[in-house]
Amino acid sequence: MAHVSASRHPEPGAPPTRDPAPPAAVAAELARRYPDAHCELDFASPLQLLVATVLSAQTTDVRVNQVTPELFERYPTAASLSAADVGDLEAILRPLGFFRSKAAALIGLGRALAEEHDGEVPADLTALVALPGVGRKTANVVLGNAFDVPGITVDTHVGRLARRFGWTDDVDPVRVERRLGDLFPPREWVVLCHRLIFHGRRICFARRPACGECPLAGICPSAEV
Ligand code: SF4
Repeated sequence: MAHVSASRHPEPGAPPTRDPAPPAAVAAELARRYPDAHCELDFASPLQLLVATVLSAQTTDVRVNQVTPELFERYPTAASLSAADVGDLEAILRPLGFFRSKAAALIGLGRALAEEHDGEVPADLTALVALPGVGRKTANVVLGNAFDVPGITVDTHVGRLARRFGWTDDVDPVRVERRLGDLFPPREWVVLCHRLIFHGRRICFARRPACGECPLAGICPSAEV
């Protein structure tokens, strides 16, 4: 008979196998490990952060940072983006993949900002998610990092780590966001997400988490050490 062993790194939705990790202890250890965790997209204004975040879908922050200097220089305002020649824009975005849809998205975003918000990025969740191509995750990145408005960004790393710590078994980003909002005070939300993302990128990988190197192994219910 085939032997099936249970993974100790639960798949999304699988129940945690031990007690959840204490949220305050996790936050404290992550703060020790990643005191300077920050948004890894380069930006100098809310518009630049919004554009960079939209571009970061299905690619890495490193790649986005390689194309944005030219992009921001050629198209410094929402109006200039809305009037961009699509071929020129696609040529700049080509290294990111999906460059046609991303170019169209930026032109639409520039147009909406220019026509509906005087070219400014609104510091408001409802207004942000009403913009074309802007979802809740992007909106929370912009609010937290460009406007210092507390927001929880549930990307693939934050969702995965929240489940591994046993804080939730949900895969729905909005419900994970609410759960984290219950566990942590708003003043910690933005930096906590940066630290979870740093940890997910450096140690708690999706496929083979490096539990042997992880400072949280003693309190993580998914630890395999
Ligand atoms: S790497 Fe750390 S946080 Fe991730 S599952 Fe292993 S012990 Fe838990």
